[in-house]
Amino acid sequence: MTTPADRIADALGRCRHVLLLNHVSPDGDCLGSTLALARALSTRGQRATVGSADGVPEVYRFLPGADGIRRELPDDAAYDAVVFMECSTPDRAGALAARAAAVPLWVNIDHHLNNGGFGHLIAYDATAAAVAELVHPIVRRLAPGPDRQTATCLLCALLTDTGSFRYPAVTQRTLTIAADLVGQGAHPSEVYARVYENRPATTLRLLGQALGRLRLSPDGRVAWTVVTQAMLGETGAAMEESEGIVGALRAIAGVDVAMLFKEDPDGIRVSLRARGAVSANAIAEAFGGGGHAAAAGFTGRGTLDEVVRQTLEVVERELRTAAAS
Ligand code: 5GP
Ligand code: MN
Repeated sequence: MTTPADRIADALGRCRHVLLLNHVSPDGDCLGSTLALARALSTRGQRATVGSADGVPEVYRFLPGADGIRRELPDDAAYDAVVFMECSTPDRAGALAARAAAVPLWVNIDHHLNNGGFGHLIAYDATAAAVAELVHPIVRRLAPGPDRQTATCLLCALLTDTGSFRYPAVTQRTLTIAADLVGQGAHPSEVYARVYENRPATTLRLLGQALGRLRLSPDGRVAWTVVTQAMLGETGAAMEESEGIVGALRAIAGVDVAMLFKEDPDGIRVSLRARGAVSANAIAEAFGGGGHAAAAGFTGRGTLDEVVRQTLEVVERELRTAAAS
């Protein structure tokens, strides 16, 4: 019996040139997965181009191949296939999504709850702790031999999307794949140190300011804070350095929903984290966003204060729904 991973590996294995697209604001899972798949293809002598409309956050530049990731793509390049990595809809690839229009084969690889099921070949499993769990068998079929760089990309993807293997989504499959990657020469402690112990001081100054502005709902179940352009100006941090803040809020006892509101030039970006029966995805979907039960996001319309107020209303509704279920 062939699996979706087999079919995708076999189809990609026949291509001359594959385009691999990351979603906007790419994370370690998305970047590590596209880079691993691109590397598996290029070790076979195939061409692979990795695109990321938002570039590569500083913390992930250590990933093997990250310096080859393109923000823009040449108009005259012809691709035989395009891989949408963790894109619930094609437009999640941002400005680069338009480059897929002329590509004959679309591959959709995702583990988010609200994937639209687009594309010719689909590897989809919302129970996967990281999309890297779905990419690993494709990579293994394309390039069966061990490769330390590819394994490092996939281990970074697993490690970052599972909170260093702490989240409830972690299963035997996650750890079996991690063990295979370690067997191929990837080092969990090295990847951890590169991502989490290599921060500029500005990141911690921004965290300090954000924690200083922490707010809690009267019942203590909702925690939130903000990152404004003024806070970036004062600390010298870039917005991408806000990545760990919302996770820190979830550490508070009794908090079921943690939120970070980021004042971006193109809107208020909202990051949601939830626990137990509460669905972060349901909250994000009410505003046209998406994600997982435990982690989701969306872009809010209006001023920072308006978006905070609208989101709190939906959160209260979701808390009542979760209590009733
Ligand atoms: P983060 O808060 O780390 O940016 O995102 C948490 C999760 O929600 C990630 O899996 C991310 O891909 C997803 N997500 C964030 N923003 C959006 C959005 O606007 N639309 C969709 N569909 N998913 C999002
Ligand atoms: Mn992911």
